[in-house]
Amino acid sequence: MPKNLICYYSLCSLSVQGNNYICPNFKDMSEEKSLNFIEEIIEKDIAEGIHEGRVHTRFPPEPNGYLHIGHSKAICLNFGLAKKYQGKCNLRFDDTNPEKEEVEYVDSIKEDIQWLGFRWDNEFYASDYFDKIYGFAVALIQKGLAYVDESSSEDMAKQKGTPTLAGTDSPYRNRSIEENLDLFTRMKNGEFADGTCVLRAKIDMKHDNMIMRDPVIYRIKHAEHHRTGNTWCIYPMYDFAHGQSDSIEEITHSICTLEFIPHRDLYNWCIQKLEIFPSRQYEFARLNMTYTLMSKRKLLMLVQQQFVEGWDDPRMPTISGFRRRGYTPESIREFCDKIGIAKRDNMIDISLLDFCLRDHLNKIALRRMAVLHPVKLIITNYEEGKTETLSAENNPEDENAGHRALTFGKELWIEREDFMENPSKKYFRLGPGLQVRLKHAYIIECTDFKKDADGTITEIHCKYFPESKSGNDQSGLKVKGTMHWLHCDTALQAEVRLYDRLFTVENPAAHDGDLQEILHPKSLEVISKAYIEPALAAAKQQDRFQFLRLGYFCVDKNSSSEKLIFNKTTGLKDSFAKVV
Ligand code: ATP
Ligand code: MG
Repeated sequence: MPKNLICYYSLCSLSVQGNNYICPNFKDMSEEKSLNFIEEIIEKDIAEGIHEGRVHTRFPPEPNGYLHIGHSKAICLNFGLAKKYQGKCNLRFDDTNPEKEEVEYVDSIKEDIQWLGFRWDNEFYASDYFDKIYGFAVALIQKGLAYVDESSSEDMAKQKGTPTLAGTDSPYRNRSIEENLDLFTRMKNGEFADGTCVLRAKIDMKHDNMIMRDPVIYRIKHAEHHRTGNTWCIYPMYDFAHGQSDSIEEITHSICTLEFIPHRDLYNWCIQKLEIFPSRQYEFARLNMTYTLMSKRKLLMLVQQQFVEGWDDPRMPTISGFRRRGYTPESIREFCDKIGIAKRDNMIDISLLDFCLRDHLNKIALRRMAVLHPVKLIITNYEEGKTETLSAENNPEDENAGHRALTFGKELWIEREDFMENPSKKYFRLGPGLQVRLKHAYIIECTDFKKDADGTITEIHCKYFPESKSGNDQSGLKVKGTMHWLHCDTALQAEVRLYDRLFTVENPAAHDGDLQEILHPKSLEVISKAYIEPALAAAKQQDRFQFLRLGYFCVDKNSSSEKLIFNKTTGLKDSFAKVV
């Protein structure tokens, strides 16, 4: 069992049994949830009239990959706060790294945010501010607060010192303002090759915070940018773009993850020295989840090395992967709500996400029957050629979901594993002489079976009890097991894809070696010839189903009327499995 798991509200230890997430405080606490620490700050700011009580947040992804489940925490937080306090939330692409960024990523990010159910008030790009940010850099130079440094990167690293050893000044630190202005203009004009020089803020090489030891704020990169093309060959560093963009947009609460705590000094220094809008930075703990990798860089490696089918492979922890797998936006939002906002790092068990997912799917998924590993069952006392239409509830959890028709006949498909030649005493499914109920239909009793030379069961023979029809059972028979089935002549074929964890280790982020070493060798199992109910022919992408006794499934994006493809979203609750 993973250590350091914490309950999403307090510090009670999380308990996970099988696939079920069980927290003793689960229900009660969710009803009277207290404010998280950022909400407390915001309510205080509103009470004190800071920024006229305005709340303006932003979600600032770098378009260098698809969003992952960790981003959904930041999305729910930023958009959620804006909604709660009748404020605004900008979508800002932090696009200051021309080599790694692409329009495909911009488009996918927008799609994912909308799918999660959020709308941004403004769509901005840090690259739109390149002129302004350049102006800020010039302003710093003019104030004697920035200089062009030609030291090599090795020399600059040496100058930085260590956390316990003060840094040393660069030999270029005391250039005149005029010289700096000239050199910086020439940097901008493309006179220097990549890496020749950088612009550094002139702060304090002995500062306790290493980030304040004359950080680089602009570097030369002769690279085409996906929006600004070749207009620029110098680009601001994160620390000289992010905070400045916040100020330009007059963001009131700039919320980021804990690793940016040391950057806050620089964030505030820039605001103070440039005398720009005083946005404030607040940090929260990023989402870490067991068996899940949350780094766009590493996820890109999985895609590039073709360990997965693409960014939206249903095994990927990306929002698009979860979408294709059949997760609902509601369940992801609920998950983000339950994990809450903490000030220190923790590890959330992935079964909590699954718990939220099942909870939602149970309410909305239409019930259908599918047989993944078929074996034929023949009802010997059922008339040849006869069929009858049975009525089946679409969803017992939703009285508005209605009913569907099922065809019943002499020859049926059942799951191979629902039959045992020599059943044990506690086996409540089918075996010689055993009785079970066929869901929505009749009670049957196994009378005989056939095997081939290898010992594989090829046919099961049963008799049925006509008076045991579901909904009007006059048989007086008592059976413990209920099985799903399909009528052979009307069932459709489909491909069904079953997924397992992508990683074999609980904390893949901690793995130093090649990612391939920790990939689950059987994370995808394709069943190319499964049978499904005819009612599923009309299923559309994003429709969700519970295949009785098998789990939750959805239509894959590549499914067509010629070739139906279903993805397994997740399994069923343990409790359901026990009932059957
Ligand atoms: P990655 O390392 O995956 O590229 P990132 O932090 O560099 O992540 P960004 O695109 O810069 O990715 O992130 C956009 C926003 O999402 C940032 O505010 C960031 O703090 C937040 N974010 C990223 N990962 C997580 C996470 N695991 N939990 C919560 N928030 C996250
Ligand atoms: Mg980043």
